[in-house]
Amino acid sequence: METSKSQQLFSAAQQLFPGGVNSPVRAFRAVGGQPLFIDRGQGAYLYDVDGNRFVDYVLSWGPLILGHAHPAVVAAISETALRGTSFGAPSNLEIKLARLIQAFMPNLEMLRFVNSGTEATMTALRLARAYTGRSKVVKFEGCYHGHADLLLVKAGSGVATLGLPDSPGVPAASTADTLVVPYNDIAALEMLFNQKGAEIAAVIVEPVAGNMGVVPPEPGFLESLRRLTTECGALLIFDEVMTGFRVHLGGAQALYGIHPDLTTLGKVIGGGLPVGAYGGRKEIMQMVAPSGPMYQAGTLSGNPLTMAAGIATLEELSQPEIWNHIEQMTFHLGDGVRAAAKDAGLPVVVQQVGTMFTTFFTDQPVKDWSSAKHADTVLYAEFFRAMLSEGIYLAPSQFEAGFLSSFHSEEVAGKTIKAAQNAFRRISK
Ligand SMILES: *Cc1c(COP(=O)(O)O)cnc(C)c1O
Repeated sequence: METSKSQQLFSAAQQLFPGGVNSPVRAFRAVGGQPLFIDRGQGAYLYDVDGNRFVDYVLSWGPLILGHAHPAVVAAISETALRGTSFGAPSNLEIKLARLIQAFMPNLEMLRFVNSGTEATMTALRLARAYTGRSKVVKFEGCYHGHADLLLVKAGSGVATLGLPDSPGVPAASTADTLVVPYNDIAALEMLFNQKGAEIAAVIVEPVAGNMGVVPPEPGFLESLRRLTTECGALLIFDEVMTGFRVHLGGAQALYGIHPDLTTLGKVIGGGLPVGAYGGRKEIMQMVAPSGPMYQAGTLSGNPLTMAAGIATLEELSQPEIWNHIEQMTFHLGDGVRAAAKDAGLPVVVQQVGTMFTTFFTDQPVKDWSSAKHADTVLYAEFFRAMLSEGIYLAPSQFEAGFLSSFHSEEVAGKTIKAAQNAFRRISK
């Protein structure tokens, strides 16, 4: 595969950006090699600057549920841009997108748009603390909620541990009130609530984890979260930045029938432009300035281009057959990859919920961070590189979700399964 132009650009980028990138996983460090520089995307395909074409299963890390450069999204952005790109004043586009979101997720009685998922989760926790007057927050090992200080916490093992910062630069004080529990561990959660329930402002969870690879909640896990938080007066926050419109059109809250107090969104609702949102029960949301005392603001929040791209995307998704097709193709792909791995005699578990999947190199189902860590990352890296040479662009890390779009047809999935057969055969030798 010719990559000389990507290599040249990567050398230039390394002088300008730490590690040559503007977000860490893009650097391909977990899989070796160098990142490809992308020239353009069309439908299910990415084209790099050397002219190579790949079926894209990263899709900008989830947002592009309608694929690259969907005509309706491109038209919405172009038409909106002609009328100005930002006003710093309200526009009808915000109301339209909010109503579309509400139609799918009625738990968001009120919401606010922000510019990233990080901003959404950070603010949802500030709001939970403001509303409850308590300071402790609970998160789960292996769940990622953006890079706000209080959420950058190293996962402890065993029972709940007091969080220690995961990154230099995060003062211990910032994470001192962050409690960490293993994902899917109801007993650890009950123990924590018995000890500290009265101090807990909120539990934040990826209701289907996607940031340790796809890990579904075990039966009863989300129900226990709902019950324990309600009993002690803490808020339940579903971080659906990734799962929103991905595991179900109504998010994990619709898929599992759980009503969180607050929800954070991002990714899909911006149609490929920078976005985030938080929302939930009206009485809680009314704490937010200027209707209440909890401060949060944003110069470009509710940006017209983002709103227009989000509206076009959700209007398209209002035809349920589109989403159902994407889910069908994800099942189809998962089955094909599983069978191919079995034929090659490789220990592979494909975990899938809705339109998200992860191919784990392990012989045990993954249910939390410690079982995820058993996956063979060296084998994944080989698989990644083999697939890339077959023209398939997977997430450059074992612990990420893959995504499909409306352009991932039967033909595209079939091609991917063939590529996986070749890749598995090659790495099993
Ligand atoms: C991507 C993601 C975030 C962070 O969103 P950004 O827009 O990257 O800041 C937060 N939570 C979850 C679950 C995510 O997948």
